[in-house]
Amino acid sequence: MELKVGGIFKCPEGHNATIVWISEDKKVIAVRCSQKHLKKVVKVADNTKPAMSGHYPRKERKIYVENMVFLIEI
Ligand SMILES: [Zn+2]
Repeated sequence: MELKVGGIFKCPEGHNATIVWISEDKKVIAVRCSQKHLKKVVKVADNTKPAMSGHYPRKERKIYVENMVFLIEI
């Protein structure tokens, strides 16, 4: 299979991603995936619950990123 910019390659999470860059020695490629990827989970104050003893309840919020670009070593 020949790799070329604009071709399809699997992103690290297994989606079909588009090749956007290939290094000159063809050992590293960059792919951009249009699917959502979990970037990180952050703790945020949960204002929907009453504060108790000065501490706000916390809840987790997941941050997803679309169109993430991955560098992949072949
Ligand atoms: Zn993906």
